[in-house]
Amino acid sequence: MLISHRFLGVILSVALAPALGYAGPVPAPPAAKSFPLGAFKVTALRDALNVVPNDNSVFGVGRTPAEVAQVLAAAGAPTDKITLGVDALLVQGRGRVMLFDTGLGPRVRGQVVASLALAGLTPDQVTDVFITHSHFDHVGGLLTLDGHSTFPKAVIHMSSEEWGFMSAQPSNADLVKVIAVQVKPFLPGGVVSPGVRSVALVGHTPGHTGYDISSGGAHLIDIGDSAHSAIISLAKPDWDIEYDQDFTAGRATRRAILTRLAASHEWVFAPHFPFPGVGKVEVKGDGFVWAPGKP
Ligand SMILES: [Zn+2]
Repeated sequence: MLISHRFLGVILSVALAPALGYAGPVPAPPAAKSFPLGAFKVTALRDALNVVPNDNSVFGVGRTPAEVAQVLAAAGAPTDKITLGVDALLVQGRGRVMLFDTGLGPRVRGQVVASLALAGLTPDQVTDVFITHSHFDHVGGLLTLDGHSTFPKAVIHMSSEEWGFMSAQPSNADLVKVIAVQVKPFLPGGVVSPGVRSVALVGHTPGHTGYDISSGGAHLIDIGDSAHSAIISLAKPDWDIEYDQDFTAGRATRRAILTRLAASHEWVFAPHFPFPGVGKVEVKGDGFVWAPGKP
């Protein structure tokens, strides 16, 4: 019940956000930013922004707004709210057009399809969709405004655990029914498609999965929602975030993946970091800091 309650809360915040004019997803203009990764062409696609008030409802659960404000101020950021990106990632090469997550979808004015157009592509050219997890800001874009599959020719890759979790949520019934014929579940830890290896990153959701994208010795890992704020989630990886469905596993996974990334100096894509969400993780004190940049 806890899981579905939290999920419902997220859905409600989306529905109410425009009316409240403050907390929750807010529209942003489409954007596409490309760079090479070996033989792949990688493009960050903007979908929206998500503005979260600094009231411990999401960040620093069990802490105080003053503690969160201190972390934000130290990074030179506004202290009354936390602004997150909502982005997807496009990878082209080896004859494939691969989309990693799909944004909020047109019902809440998500811009992934418009951003895809800026990259010169239409939805029916997408051959593969890789889902990190089944929260609305990652799978909402799988449906068109009239309830059809947005990417009708794509194979939709998702971990078996996440597909089971997603299918069990009554609120997903319409979406699950439409995409079921396209979904190809996998067990995390192996190669999902040439140049794409899945990485189990459980905690945020039961089947939350990252993707290690590689070509010609170049690597980029899409960490999904292992970290949400480029400031707070890195400086204070052990603080709880309301969006994690398992706080204990979420904390452990966050610290483990950030430790690995800081040691390996891998390129990272994080869908909720400031657009285009690409950079590296570095150690700072007993936490980490984000260094934006691109390969
Ligand atoms: Zn998310």
